[in-house]
Formats: sequence, structure tokens, C-alpha cells
Amino acid sequence: MNSIILFVIGTALGSFISLVIQRANRSESIIFPRSHCDQCRTPLKPVDLIPIVSYLSLKGRCRYCKSVINRELITNEFIFGGAFILQSYFNFNWLIFISILILITLSIIDNQKLTVPTILIIILLIINVTHYLIFNGGNLILLIILLGAYLVVQSLNYFTIKIGCGDIDVLFIVGLIIGFSGILTLLMLATTTALIYAWLFAKQKRIAFIPFITIGYLFNLIFM
Ligand SMILES: [Zn+2]
Repeated sequence: MNSIILFVIGTALGSFISLVIQRANRSESIIFPRSHCDQCRTPLKPVDLIPIVSYLSLKGRCRYCKSVINRELITNEFIFGGAFILQSYFNFNWLIFISILILITLSIIDNQKLTVPTILIIILLIINVTHYLIFNGGNLILLIILLGAYLVVQSLNYFTIKIGCGDIDVLFIVGLIIGFSGILTLLMLATTTALIYAWLFAKQKRIAFIPFITIGYLFNLIFM
């Protein structure tokens, strides 16, 4: 499919996922009330909801009360659009592509809250185990050993170093696809980029790590 069409579909998905995350954070329904401005509560018209285009044409401000629209929305639209462009170039199989979309969603949530919903971790696990068994010539015994190792590491983590919530789960789950050497490359890349990011931008002590795991995962899928 044409890259531009895929990009547009990606931005629409990014817009929808941003809405779902925002409403879930506030324990609101996804369907009601209709999309509205957070400040003046005016319901938005379809013309206000076109991904990227609406934001740019309104110069990042609400059409009705002129309050600043959260920049995260357009960022997420671009990121999902970019993921669909990547898909059009590299043609990952559909399970891998879904795992990328879930990891991006987890990255956005982790970045906001420094924790991620278990349900998304479980869906990612099911997707990657399925891929592992079908495409990686998955060995069931190895899978059981891996899950055992995961439980040991997770309990050690619980009592000792306390790496961020969800990080170890995600590392094990992506390890099913990229293997042990892939995980080593991923960790090197993720920790280096995270350290540079923390040094340059992060004011708070803790930074979300899943975005950097996602960058390392994409690097592995594309270059290794
Ligand atoms: Zn408004």
C-alpha cells in the first residue's frame, strides 16, 4: 500500500490511542462524552479532529477558547504514522508489527506514569509467544526455562534492585523474538540512549525505560 496512505492510517490510530490513554487515565468512558476541549469543554467538530492537520492549522490552540493543546497528541500521531511508514519499508510480519504498536503504546503510558497496564503486557506476551512458536522454530522446553528464569529474576527484582515496573517483563517478552544476543545489543543501545536522554533532558530522578527498550527492539528488527 502507498506509504502516504499508511502514514495517514497510522496518525489516525495514534490519535485514537492517545484518546484511549487519556480517558483511561481519568477513568472516563472511551465513547462518551464526545471529544471535547479539555479547557472550555466545547465538543470538537470533525474538522478539529483530523490528525496532525487540525493541530497545525490551529497553531496548537483550541479553536474556541485558544488554550494550548497538549503537544503530546501530535507527537503520538507522528510516532504511529512513522511506525506505519517503517512497516511499508521493512514489511515485518503482522505479529511483529502488532508487537511494535503495543510497545509504542506502552512507551507512551510509561512516559506519563512510570508504570504500565498488566493487560497490555499480557497481550504482548501472547503475541510474541505465538510468533516464537510459529516463526522462530520455538522450542517449548526452552520457553518453559525462559519463563522460569523470568519468575526468578522478577522475584529477585521485587526484593532487591526494583527495576521499573514492566521493564523486565518487556525485556523477556521481546527477547523471545530477538534472542539472547539481540537482548544484549538492545540493552547496550537502550541504556546508552537513556543515559544521554537523562543527561540532556530529564529533570526528574526516574525516567521511563520502555521507550528506550522499544528503540533497541526496532534497531534489532531493522539492522540485525
Ligand atoms: Zn477550548
